[in-house]
Amino acid sequence: MPALSRTSTSRTIPISDARTAQLVADLTATSGTTADVIAPFTGTVLHALPLSHASDVADATAAAHVAQTFWRSAGFAYRRAVLLKAHDLLLERTSELLDILQTESGKTRGQAYEEVFEGASVTRYYALSARSVLRTRRHRAGIPIVMQTRVSYKPKGVVGVITPWNYPIALSIMDVVPALAAGNGIVQKADNQGALSILASRRAFIDAGVPEALWAVVAGDGAEIGNAVVDAADYVCFTGSTATGTKVGERAASTLTGASLELGGKNPLIVLDDVDPVEIAASAAYAVFSSMGQLCMSSERIFVVESVAADFTRAFTERTKGLRQGAALNFTTDVGSLTSAAQLERVTRHVDDAVAKGATVLAGGRARPDLGPFFFEPTVLTDVTANMECFAHETFGPVVAITVVGDEAEAIAAANDTDFGLNASVFTGSRARGRRVADLLDAGSVNINEGYRASFSSTDAPMGGMKRSGMGRRNGTEGLLRFVEARTVSESTGILNLPRTGTEFESMVGMMTTTLKVLKALRRR
Ligand code: NAD
Repeated sequence: MPALSRTSTSRTIPISDARTAQLVADLTATSGTTADVIAPFTGTVLHALPLSHASDVADATAAAHVAQTFWRSAGFAYRRAVLLKAHDLLLERTSELLDILQTESGKTRGQAYEEVFEGASVTRYYALSARSVLRTRRHRAGIPIVMQTRVSYKPKGVVGVITPWNYPIALSIMDVVPALAAGNGIVQKADNQGALSILASRRAFIDAGVPEALWAVVAGDGAEIGNAVVDAADYVCFTGSTATGTKVGERAASTLTGASLELGGKNPLIVLDDVDPVEIAASAAYAVFSSMGQLCMSSERIFVVESVAADFTRAFTERTKGLRQGAALNFTTDVGSLTSAAQLERVTRHVDDAVAKGATVLAGGRARPDLGPFFFEPTVLTDVTANMECFAHETFGPVVAITVVGDEAEAIAAANDTDFGLNASVFTGSRARGRRVADLLDAGSVNINEGYRASFSSTDAPMGGMKRSGMGRRNGTEGLLRFVEARTVSESTGILNLPRTGTEFESMVGMMTTTLKVLKALRRR
């Protein structure tokens, strides 16, 4: 098997100790203990992250409530100006953000850029759209003229945001910015591995005018600090695994605190019989191996229709073998490193288990310690069966199983045969056919002739999971309405009193019934 092409590796850490110290000083962390954060490209200690105590969460929440009273009353125009300024600062600081993100995550520069692009897009989107969605509006009253009704939106208060390590900038901003745009404060629990990237992007918002206390970041043990965030919050946004998300959902429910849960997936990619299999191999490979498969929307299961299966499999395997893998802080690589030793262990376990039970390795299948401590080759498997761990469980790594199916109907059935429902992709020569197939897939987002970026970048459209992939939606109007309570204010105009006694009912029932008939005849809702 030919080795993946190597690129020159950069083994230095591009962030100075002084800059790191400046960034971590923004954490709310007084426990006096630290955790070493390892830089995946090198295996060396990137920095010692100060850890929070549960009492830090309580203090940060109290301070965020105070800051939120100002922020809430500052109004949409003020908040829009601050968020648009933050957008500009994110773009001005892109180079540093990419350095930090790559160093902390092991991503390629291109995939790190996708995060900054997404963060800026979401910020612009909510800065410009929050007012039109959330302004107070008149709604149709039950009995026109006699009553008037308005609906206004009140921010929830302080939102607890819990984020994973894989997309620290994009996933933070996708929850934090709509919450801020709606007038809330934030206490965010960062994963230790993503904290530096989060703090660097948060700085752009603080420098743009978001009050320091309005967006606090804490770090530390998942259960201890995560539980404290859930308990203190007025609403919870969790992004992470289905196992942890289930616990977070149960805990939030015990106090009737609302929560949106963005969880794991086992995403299918369907290749129909009307494609040019060679042409689509590049996009399909990106869908699988972007961020080393450490993306909730990555494809881990490919179902290819028989008539194009041989050509597609050959082209996909060649494409995979040709990917340039390495640790470069520039755009010379196509795939990077796994993010941690735990990720390397999980990916290795899934591949070894599959191979031991009879799977065939068409590409990759092994670690690459010569490139860096957590590198693993992009891996293509066939003959994957239900008794293998990678069949139904999320690998969350650069491993895909190709399965040949007889036709479109079989592909759809196989794609839906999973507990998850986050993302799905369909490759077809006909967009109309793609839309028809999309309607039959049990997934919160479906991408046609793309892996995930078409829906991921559509910030105006809701994003989330069906089945065990989550609850609630981020992005779009749905993503904003999570963060507010709707308040209905209805008033009697005094033109007519509603009936209060039997006699009054008797005299008005005829008129009220006629009103109902007229409203229906006029097609008035
Ligand atoms: P994880 O569930 O282990 O951790 C996520 C976060 O929760 C971390 O900050 C962690 O410290 C914290 N946490 C751990 N235990 C907790 C507890 N008991 N209470 C509260 N918080 C707790 O997930 P991970 O390994 O960091 O991330 C990978 C998973 O996230 C994958 O399953 C992936 O598919 C999923 N994910 C989903 C989306 C999405 O949008 N649907 C996006 C990214 C990642």
